[in-house]
Amino acid sequence: MARERIYLDNAATSWPKPACVVEAVLKHFNELGACAGRSGYREANEVERLIGDARKQVAYLFATHSPEHVIFGHNGTDMLNVALHGLLKGGDHVVTTTLEHNSILRPLSELKQTHGVDVTYVSPEEDGRIDPAKIGEAIRPETRLIAMTHVSNVTGAIQPVEEVFAVAKDRGVRMLVDAAQSAGHIDLNLGKTPIDIVAFSGHKGLLGPLGTGAMIVQPSVVPELRSLRQGGTGTKSESDQQPDELPTKYESGNANVPGLLGLRAGVEHIREETVTALHRHTMQNTARLLEGMRTLPKLRIFGPENLEHRVGVISIQVESFDPHELATALDSAFGIQSRAGLHCAPLTHQHLGTIGSGGTLRFSLGVFNTPEQVERTLEALKSILK
Ligand code: PMP
Repeated sequence: MARERIYLDNAATSWPKPACVVEAVLKHFNELGACAGRSGYREANEVERLIGDARKQVAYLFATHSPEHVIFGHNGTDMLNVALHGLLKGGDHVVTTTLEHNSILRPLSELKQTHGVDVTYVSPEEDGRIDPAKIGEAIRPETRLIAMTHVSNVTGAIQPVEEVFAVAKDRGVRMLVDAAQSAGHIDLNLGKTPIDIVAFSGHKGLLGPLGTGAMIVQPSVVPELRSLRQGGTGTKSESDQQPDELPTKYESGNANVPGLLGLRAGVEHIREETVTALHRHTMQNTARLLEGMRTLPKLRIFGPENLEHRVGVISIQVESFDPHELATALDSAFGIQSRAGLHCAPLTHQHLGTIGSGGTLRFSLGVFNTPEQVERTLEALKSILK
């Protein structure tokens, strides 16, 4: 029998997946078994229809009405690379933040070294949130892009990307948002706030399988965004040029069809349940976990005090405990699964002062966690810390 798991690592990838996601993946393996956009028999047409519907589901979740502007890829990192390498050129300046994941920091470092792209890093305020005015102050005549996360994957702090977009628009600068930790958890309405590029994972809050990611591009940025990978698209095969049309401009080679059909089901599930209701459930459990942890000795909690400025991600440090040892103890004795370390966000830890002490222990809650699991986590922490 499978070991009982209290899975609190949903910021890495969500688990379990809804039954409809598992069924959609299996349906492709067992019945459909065809590529997307290549062939014309019944199953291939059905796959094509479902992939088209996956684009619609994602587009509607973000309140945008052009599914062809939804581009699929392998994960959030893949999409951020497509965006950063596709957009930036030598001499460009980028404003980013110290809250970023290596999925933004490393492509920017590479572009610094290979193309001389210049980067300014803005740090958050006391409450873990970026002040949009500081982003504005960092903009220079040669600034091409603001690249920032919607939610810190270390502290769970929600960033004011709508206000930053207003600054970007006012100053004529493009904006890229990393929505890996917000997609499916909090709404981002691109109808109201048409951020140039929003990139995210399919396998975290959107409840799809690993190996899926997406980005949404606004029409005006497409002529400036080069295609990074050229190849077969199943369209215009007589030409040796990558088609200009969307989504094929940025999608070469066969897609992860089982994964994307799972993602389609995951997003449909979220839209049926609503982001608001799912987030309310996650935040009730998060609030209780925070409340219980505040009564424990020697435990420091990072991130905003105000619950409205957080998602279900909690980073802690416990005096005289190495975060990795604590994570191992929680798993081996209680089946409580968290993540320890820097969470691929070194500058955040530099800012928090946790870089030299093993980073933090991170609990990240998902839609399937229960109040009982939260109580058991608090009991486990109590018994380890006593
Ligand atoms: N950005 C942030 C803020 C993340 O938390 C993550 C996942 N850890 C990523 C990007 C990368 O996403 P993926 O794992 O899908 O490549």
